[in-house]
Amino acid sequence: MILIKTAFQNKATMKIINTHAHLIEIEKVLQDDGQKYLSFLRDIPTFSAIEQVTAMLSVENLLHQMNEAGVEQTVLFAMYGPILYSSNEFVAGICRKYPGQFIGYASVDITNPEAPAILEEAVVKLGLRGLKLHPPLQNFYPNNKALWPLYKKAKNLNIPVVFHVGTTPFGNLVKLSQAYPVLLDEVANDFPDLTIILTHLGTLWHNESFMVVEKHPNVYIDTAAYPYEIRELLNENLLRRVGKNKFIFGTDFPMPYEGKMHRISDFVDCIEALTISRELKELIFHGNFETLMKSKS
Ligand SMILES: [Zn+2]
Repeated sequence: MILIKTAFQNKATMKIINTHAHLIEIEKVLQDDGQKYLSFLRDIPTFSAIEQVTAMLSVENLLHQMNEAGVEQTVLFAMYGPILYSSNEFVAGICRKYPGQFIGYASVDITNPEAPAILEEAVVKLGLRGLKLHPPLQNFYPNNKALWPLYKKAKNLNIPVVFHVGTTPFGNLVKLSQAYPVLLDEVANDFPDLTIILTHLGTLWHNESFMVVEKHPNVYIDTAAYPYEIRELLNENLLRRVGKNKFIFGTDFPMPYEGKMHRISDFVDCIEALTISRELKELIFHGNFETLMKSKS
């Protein structure tokens, strides 16, 4: 009963946008990558209950959790890579089916020379409103100049680009060096008009991520980190130093954390309980994201 009351209070007093979530096309992941990834996932402690994770992947479950947590809108990421595979068409279809509840971000296969044109089609024809890239999962270094035409296209389309930074639970499948946040400093230097969003409060590369966010007016970061990290890191001094307009709320649904299944309301309650001003909470929960998206519409 207490949890229901908390969710109700959030809903009544504070608008909340979850800017980081995945709905994975799990049948396709298993069909394409088969036992390789399934057995791989089973070897990762946080994925020990893969059946439970796959059971959580439905849009109905996401909507239920959004409602429970008082989340009004969720940003859904497409992903052209293993494990988190989700096509632009799949994400756009969910956005169409539940108007107003989801904002879709595209992804592209970065090895495809047509990637910039595919991104344009995803934005213009499918109505997607951002680009999500996962350098380690998609196996590329984000400061590779071969990516510059794609970033230029995103800038011209006036959409933000989200980069995974920091560690992943995907073991030998990925290289951490590709997730080093300081690589994005070079991208931000060359694209001062491109909105760049780092993820997960840096996933253990916290300070390196905050350095990039602090340095560049066009670089933001989402709070899709473990609750203990949110509690330890997000204090008034850090938020004001790095930039009170730079932090946006996200949860990385449906990823497990701290040995538990994903629950969006835990992240909402965690931010709510921080000893920071109401103003800062409002900015994190919705204000900063609305501002950065508004400047793009
Ligand atoms: Zn994610």
